[in-house]
Amino acid sequence: MADDGTADRGPTSIPRSSAIFARAQGVIPGGVNSPVRACRQVGCEPLFMARGEGGRVFDADGHEYLDLVSSWGPLILGHAHPEVLDAIARAMANGTTFGAPTEIEVEFAETLRTAMPSMERVRAVSSGTEATMTALRLARGFTGRDKILKIDGAYHGHSDALLVAAGSGAATLGIPGSAGVTAGAARDTLVVPHNDLAAIEVVLAAGDLAAVIVEAIPGNMGCVPPDPAYPARLRALTAAHGTLLIYDEVITGFRVGYGGAQALHGITPDLTCVGKIVGGGLPAAAFGGRADVMELLAPIGKVYQAGTLSGNPLAMAAGLKTLEILRRPGTYERLDRLGQIVADSWASEARSAGIPVCVNRVGSMFTMFFQDGPVTDYASAKRSDLQRFGAFFRGMRARGVSLPPSQFEAAFTSLALSDDDAGKICEAARDTLRLDLG
Ligand SMILES: *Cc1c(COP(=O)(O)O)cnc(C)c1O
Repeated sequence: MADDGTADRGPTSIPRSSAIFARAQGVIPGGVNSPVRACRQVGCEPLFMARGEGGRVFDADGHEYLDLVSSWGPLILGHAHPEVLDAIARAMANGTTFGAPTEIEVEFAETLRTAMPSMERVRAVSSGTEATMTALRLARGFTGRDKILKIDGAYHGHSDALLVAAGSGAATLGIPGSAGVTAGAARDTLVVPHNDLAAIEVVLAAGDLAAVIVEAIPGNMGCVPPDPAYPARLRALTAAHGTLLIYDEVITGFRVGYGGAQALHGITPDLTCVGKIVGGGLPAAAFGGRADVMELLAPIGKVYQAGTLSGNPLAMAAGLKTLEILRRPGTYERLDRLGQIVADSWASEARSAGIPVCVNRVGSMFTMFFQDGPVTDYASAKRSDLQRFGAFFRGMRARGVSLPPSQFEAAFTSLALSDDDAGKICEAARDTLRLDLG
């Protein structure tokens, strides 16, 4: 970080990134391997990253940024954490994959169950997409019912059934439903607005729902927490109708607290999906839940699921080390405080610059919506001023702060950010809001 102010930190020019992007577009659709990375909503080119260290990332042209993306959530400890790298290196020295079980997979499952006791049995997979896709299959196998219910604007990965009315990249690019999803897959997915228990009650009453899947705290329409009474009521309603409740904690697991959102909400879901943080920056995710449901999985049950690299020992090692560090005293208090410092300062700077915003935050995940609010569901999130969000994103990037390039995503603080870093992020926001948007 330069000592002489912020002006030289941003990308006044990014020739090397631009050249790589041009090359990428000739061989990778849109130049990226996941759509939101292309930065289309915010009207600029993606930065190709070269390196990360603690709370900072460095682009291919050598510019430095304070990072609030955290690789979309996994890097809660920051980049290249020495203890995590060391755990990966030690695992790697024994080989990278066996296609046979390894002891560390058992430790991983036990660690998840200790953190979230609702996960009586656990299976590791390689992505959140696989976790939610398989949880649905399992719910269907268990209940003998076909239909599932999801929430408008919620994102659960890109399996066919769950791409209906999806958030995240689909929301960012304004794609209401993906081409290539069959009418059959779409027909069995029912959709209701977030925070609308009355609508859920009506759908449940038909008695043919295998599962209700929710983002425990939605982050993919931007951060939009459930109303206080919602989780317990949803739990009671689903139980009353023999419908499984699937808590997608791919973002919230180990993010909003060590026990995830289910500990905050005081509820026990039937099935839980985790990902992102549990892989410690390598590809790992998991689903788990009631033993009687989970034991329907092959090889002991009739619901099939498999994966060549499932439970990969390097990913298990990175995840377990990350969780071990998160168990140390004070971590969540620190994450919460950083989130609060940044989110509160953005809100007050926007207000003093006369720019209407609504900031939603749960601990270290937050979104500043460019509108008066309140933002309580996807319909209200969509009322945000995307032009203003784009200007905010670009201004922050120019001042050396990397944000998720979409209004419909959450920003994440990491333990690697110092108070001084948080101060710099607040200054960058103040200048951006006053000079670029005011
Ligand atoms: C990221 C995410 C997923 C998908 O995980 P991938 O590892 O990207 O497949 C699922 N659910 C939620 C809530 C997510 O944020």
